[in-house]
Amino acid sequence: MAKNYPGYVLIRDALISDAGSRRGVKGDILIKDGVIKEIGANLAAPEGANIVDASGLLVHAGLINAHTHGHGGLARGQGDKWTLELLLAAGPWITGGRSLQDKKLTTQIGAAEMVLKGCTAAYDLYYEFPAPSIDGMDAVAEAYAEIGMRAVLAPMVADHSFYEAIPGLRDALPDDLRQKVDTLRLGPGDRTIAAIGSILDRWTWSSQDIRPAVAPTIPIHCSDSFMCGCSRLARDHGVAMHSHVGESKVQAVVGMERYGKSLISHLDGLGLIDENFTAAHAVWLGDDDFRLMADRGASLAHNAGSNMRLGNGHFRLRRALDLGVNVGIGTDGANCSDNQNMYEAMRYASMVSKVQGPDPRGWAAVEEIYHAATVGSAQALGLSNAGLLAPGYKADIVFVDLGAINWIPHNWTVNQLVHVEDATSVRHVMIGGTFVVRDGRLLTLDMAKLAREAEAARDRLENLNAEWRDLFVRLEPVVSSFCPGLAARPYQINRYLCDEILV
Ligand SMILES: [Zn+2]
Repeated sequence: MAKNYPGYVLIRDALISDAGSRRGVKGDILIKDGVIKEIGANLAAPEGANIVDASGLLVHAGLINAHTHGHGGLARGQGDKWTLELLLAAGPWITGGRSLQDKKLTTQIGAAEMVLKGCTAAYDLYYEFPAPSIDGMDAVAEAYAEIGMRAVLAPMVADHSFYEAIPGLRDALPDDLRQKVDTLRLGPGDRTIAAIGSILDRWTWSSQDIRPAVAPTIPIHCSDSFMCGCSRLARDHGVAMHSHVGESKVQAVVGMERYGKSLISHLDGLGLIDENFTAAHAVWLGDDDFRLMADRGASLAHNAGSNMRLGNGHFRLRRALDLGVNVGIGTDGANCSDNQNMYEAMRYASMVSKVQGPDPRGWAAVEEIYHAATVGSAQALGLSNAGLLAPGYKADIVFVDLGAINWIPHNWTVNQLVHVEDATSVRHVMIGGTFVVRDGRLLTLDMAKLAREAEAARDRLENLNAEWRDLFVRLEPVVSSFCPGLAARPYQINRYLCDEILV
């Protein structure tokens, strides 16, 4: 599905969301070749323009998901009471054994949900075991391209397995389990880096605004030379880099013990942090880490739902914004936070900022949350001219039905987008001036076929991965006692006592 169809589109009589006005502004939006050309009252229709009647509809800029995982689509709803470390231990069971078709299918599930719920672009960190492949990443890119969504796709990689990354965990396992998890070792780092290099060299999707990036998954799962190799590759190809940094306290404690400094200080010492770098989660970062990220022009991806679901704690949004870091908002993958609803991600981000203390001066405002989920995320994705409804910006537009219950009454647009809207009022979604969702229906994918394929894949993968499920059942008690033991160690960083983050 090609984006940016040539020609004019004129959206008439919309209520245009504007953070500066309490209840939006009535007006028209003229689009030319997928880009907003003019916004105003009673705009003249150029000859041949496609006219869209938007009376009774609120329009807002497409939401942008700063952090998700396409491989999570087929794995939604699999776990409960899982920490991040248990999720990683469950990986071979819930995301293993995928065929090329499955890789496309799992991505289609996530992309379809995002678009139907008002999201028009996503940063997707996609995992293939044991190393990324050209065919695999093409399948993922094809899923986004056919649905008509913009994306940054980063092969998610490491050179140490989870059991090598957590000191003492492998040794804590009984012999037979240790032998089994040793089969999960990853290929040599240089081979993985060469595989990403081939993917970047042969990338054919950029004209559809589906661009590649590099994602060394978690610093403690990567040797320094591997992290630097990823960074070199990203810089040589002019693409972005994304990593989970300080997501769980286990990561922060192991990082401090291994590097003698915070994860962010360590990555900066390797020269990895710049304006093309995004750190996801950032729950266990101190003020100096935020300052450093701000100084380098880097971004943070805030995934409040996932942070709560996996028991990781609360990201300090107010503090990060006050210290000048760019923050985007993400859902994280469906394998750990289930749905791909950016409205819910905004609501959670707001709630989590407010639950951290009784002083409202420490909270984030709805305008800041909405800005993070649009402009902030766009910056993290390196998407120029996205995230705003303004001349020169991409015509990625969500049309919300003001007759829907979420808008009765309509008191304060941005507040209701963040705190009330749950995607049930989304009527149409336009990407690059082209409707991808119309009257609540996804135009670019056969949903009944998607459901049939997903059910069949579930049954097949459930059988195929039965031995990994059995392994997880045996690993679970060890991981779920060992890792919280590590996390119980006192951890102080940058004179900020991080235990205060957990309220
Ligand atoms: Zn993630």
